[in-house]
Amino acid sequence: MATLRSFLKFWMLSAFAAYGWLRLKLTRSPTLIILTYHRVLPEYAGERTREQPGMVISPANLQRHIKLVRSLGAVPVHLYEWLRKKNSGEALPALSVAFTFDDGWRDNYLYGYPVLRQEQIPATIFLVTGMVDTRDTFWPEKVIRLLRTPGISLSDQSLAWLHPYLGDAGNKSTPLSLLEADEIINRLKDLDDATIIRHLQHATSSLTAAINEADHAPAILQHTELKEMSGENLVKYGAHTRNHFRLNRLNSKEALEEQIAGCQSDLEAMNVNSVPIFCYPNGDITDGGEQLVAAHYQAACTTKTGWNRASRNDFDLHRFNLHDGNSSTTRMLLATIGRSLA
Ligand SMILES: [Zn+2]
Repeated sequence: MATLRSFLKFWMLSAFAAYGWLRLKLTRSPTLIILTYHRVLPEYAGERTREQPGMVISPANLQRHIKLVRSLGAVPVHLYEWLRKKNSGEALPALSVAFTFDDGWRDNYLYGYPVLRQEQIPATIFLVTGMVDTRDTFWPEKVIRLLRTPGISLSDQSLAWLHPYLGDAGNKSTPLSLLEADEIINRLKDLDDATIIRHLQHATSSLTAAINEADHAPAILQHTELKEMSGENLVKYGAHTRNHFRLNRLNSKEALEEQIAGCQSDLEAMNVNSVPIFCYPNGDITDGGEQLVAAHYQAACTTKTGWNRASRNDFDLHRFNLHDGNSSTTRMLLATIGRSLA
């Protein structure tokens, strides 16, 4: 039975890959594929044991993607340049590909940028501006760190807020598996970001030590690194809010302003190669948020999957989220793209 299942899986993957390849090869009207990455970490990096699997690509796989893009005859472009050319009626290649990285992880500089430089690939990094130059990290990484540290008592009173989200793992002791931690993080998204952060801050000091244990090296890009990467004009920076708060969880106009307009002014003050493109955290959009984004930016990236024809609304850009789990071979990458175009 297991053999039949893996046989079927193999053929499904191959069929989607062939379909994806054909659609990409045959496209004639100007089309933009936007690839989304988060963290770039080598196989040996310890951070991988404390990260959601859907967030990580290896430098080798990133390089493989670039080579595939080139072999398809697609043109790597800056996202902003493609939009600018489209809107001014300039000629566009049949198939363009824009590389984008969300959140502003420092590993983008350490492990991604050398690949981008070697291959001369333009890219856009969407920054969470309130995190730049800090030693802070996002709440999912803090929760993982907590759940993956051996000897944490999950029944601790200061973790009472977490209990409803632990599911079957509630009776276990740490370290939980990466998969269990991943599921708990997805359930925690029922809470708003500020509440989770507040709970984490109020954990007892022994728990806080576990949460912050690896915070000695910054996880997020530092200003000097932003400057260095923008020096050769390969990397540009877009907006991903000030604190990575999901917009549909913010209930005041002031809070939305702070995250959307605040991020724009932070980017300007940083004096880096910034572009007026917004990227919705977690893809969550509300009417109020959408209006503010339109007032402050020229385009926006969503988490909707698909390619972009020239007729696509600039504020509804579709992307393909890639990680080792869905694109570690050429066939898997083509199948990931093909599946959404089918
Ligand atoms: Zn993000």
